[in-house]
Amino acid sequence: MGDSAVAMRFDNQVVLITGASRGIGRAAAKLFASAGARVAVHYRNRRDAAEETLASLQGGGHAVFSADLAHERAAGMLVEDVVNRMRGLDVLVNNAGIFEYHEISTVEFDQWLDAWRRTLATNLLAPACLSYLASRQMMKMGGGRIVNVSSRGAFRGEPRAPAYGASKAGLNAMGQSLAQALAPHGVYVFTVAPGFVDTDMAKSSLSGPAGDAIRNQSPLGRVARPEEVARTVLFLASKGSEFLTGGIVDVNGASYLRS
Ligand code: NAD
Repeated sequence: MGDSAVAMRFDNQVVLITGASRGIGRAAAKLFASAGARVAVHYRNRRDAAEETLASLQGGGHAVFSADLAHERAAGMLVEDVVNRMRGLDVLVNNAGIFEYHEISTVEFDQWLDAWRRTLATNLLAPACLSYLASRQMMKMGGGRIVNVSSRGAFRGEPRAPAYGASKAGLNAMGQSLAQALAPHGVYVFTVAPGFVDTDMAKSSLSGPAGDAIRNQSPLGRVARPEEVARTVLFLASKGSEFLTGGIVDVNGASYLRS
């Protein structure tokens, strides 16, 4: 494995992180940059926030890229754009995602359908399209890694956002299948499944009346920091983690244990 495995270095590697303008994506961008990677910071429409991420990155050669991943064609253009401008793609982190409440007992059918369409388009179809296009590039270049950011909700259930739970369960299954399909081509696929993380996505839940109960789901008495999820992503994407391909790693502070 050598020293690079111990140090988790990404020198001369291009890492595309979707949804890197804030939250877990931004934390991952910082960590990859400090490990020597050139980072493609993807964002949807908050260019100012993406530029803020960019300005916080160590090293050089990073760039920002815009795409609304709810539209499949945008995913194709994103990968092409990254490969052209950054001259390669070694690691894809499928991090962008949405969480919307759509309780079956209260919403109208049209709202239900819209929530399912939006959630599956962003959380599952976009990673599928990006994985297809990125792996084509990686195979041409002799290998690469894909890390999907899933959720504990895939296992535990999401009674108030069932499309979210289903999208993440789908992402888990996709990662397993692609790990088997792509390993012979030197492309390794991993999944991280966080519980609650202290980001904008969870802000209203964490600052609301249920905040303490949520923190106490973990015996550590808190939720994850975005940097903790980012560290796991980095570890999985690093040299030496190849044999973990197909794995789904829980980052949930023992709030939901499965064996
Ligand atoms: P966040 O809301 O801060 O970040 C999500 C990012 O995805 C944002 O940058 C957003 O712009 C981007 N995004 C959403 N829809 C998009 C679209 N159509 N096109 C392009 N970009 C889009 O939340 P986060 O907590 O950093 O979430 C990152 C990932 O972690 C998500 O996949 C989420 O499901 C997962 N996750 C979060 C938690 C949590 O409690 N925060 C728990 C488990 C899993």
